[in-house]
Amino acid sequence: MKRLFFLFLLLMSSLLLPAQKTLIWCGSLIDGISNEPKSNMTIIIEKNKIVGVENGFSKAGPADKTIDLKSKTVTPGWIDMHVHMEHETNPNRYMETFTFNPADFAFQSVKFSEVTLLTGFTTVRDLGGSGVNISLRNAINKGWIKGPRVFTAGRSIATTGGHADPTNGYRRDLMGSPGPEQGVVNGPDDCRQAVRQRYKEGSDLIKITATGGVLSVAKSASNPQFTEEEIKAIVSTAKDYGFKVAVHAHGAEGMKRAIRAGVNSIEHGTYMDDETIALFKQYGTWYVPTLTAGAAVADSAKKPGYYPDLVTPKALEIGPKIKSTLAKAYKEGVKIAFGTDAGVYKHGRNWLEFVYMIEAGMPAMETIKAATIHAADLLGEKDKLGSIEAGKLADIVAVDGDPLKDPQVFGKVIFVMKDGIVYKQ
Ligand SMILES: [Zn+2]
Repeated sequence: MKRLFFLFLLLMSSLLLPAQKTLIWCGSLIDGISNEPKSNMTIIIEKNKIVGVENGFSKAGPADKTIDLKSKTVTPGWIDMHVHMEHETNPNRYMETFTFNPADFAFQSVKFSEVTLLTGFTTVRDLGGSGVNISLRNAINKGWIKGPRVFTAGRSIATTGGHADPTNGYRRDLMGSPGPEQGVVNGPDDCRQAVRQRYKEGSDLIKITATGGVLSVAKSASNPQFTEEEIKAIVSTAKDYGFKVAVHAHGAEGMKRAIRAGVNSIEHGTYMDDETIALFKQYGTWYVPTLTAGAAVADSAKKPGYYPDLVTPKALEIGPKIKSTLAKAYKEGVKIAFGTDAGVYKHGRNWLEFVYMIEAGMPAMETIKAATIHAADLLGEKDKLGSIEAGKLADIVAVDGDPLKDPQVFGKVIFVMKDGIVYKQ
């Protein structure tokens, strides 16, 4: 009886004590929603959630903690909608397929995850790897390693010889005939099976390669590689399982088929023509440009022997074109979400996408929205991520300077909080 009474007292006192809060004083706050920054604001955080945003620098209670960012610019944590956390470009990248074990990919992804988080990206969408990316997501969620919140496609889905066919360019006896389990499909039945396989493996979304691509050892970077019927089978099955569908595409025909089939985003989008732009707007499809990858592959292709012979001319041609595509798409009112294709260039330089988007004619504030609230919208996580408002998860970044005046400031991240935990200060 005495013990019960004691327990009752303990419970009452824990209910009466105010919860410990963290107050962040922001010199300038870009909240992801407003078009103008707000000066001298306080964000109030309890556990992993934002519980309030107040004018001025609010006073902390005796149990609270204060983080002073009075001389910094604070934004929601950035979201990169197109990364590959398992690998990173280097002249031996094509050999790694034969020399790396899954554990090698896993260990290097630990390093890539950490640098991604510490450079301001609190959430990423992994658009394709060997499946190690699913274990990576789980390890980060369990707190075993430091990294951004990961939404992963697991393995990408391609048709035979298509951009994400994992045995492209192999010696014929090594090519074999991969199927839906490995992400290679032919016909609507295979498409349904491949989507269900991704569900079984624990993917969060579906990625398909609707046209050729730059880095696959194959001739065309832009030919259509799925029939419309196949993409429709992917999309309808994906809907059954609550998956969104992200589509790699450079050529217009592949993009048109995908948009008409009802996919959620087109990645790269290099050769979109007027008709494609009209379809984007009609269907409300998102465009994820990946300018950083375009610039990086064009650069690497100039180094002799960096890429296989079939890849070099594609990289030189496609790379520089994406920026003018974004310029046009933005002007025409296509919905744009931020994505970089990290891994195709070195992880940790994702912030360069802001610089390139601004160079393409987007106002800096719009690029921040593309990397926060718009990306959260495309993820289907707008109720939890993408802005600094009461009720959202506490994903918060600060930079040293004014990124609206100087794009290089995006590279000066001095504070990172994810899910209420400070990773950099
Ligand atoms: Zn990619």
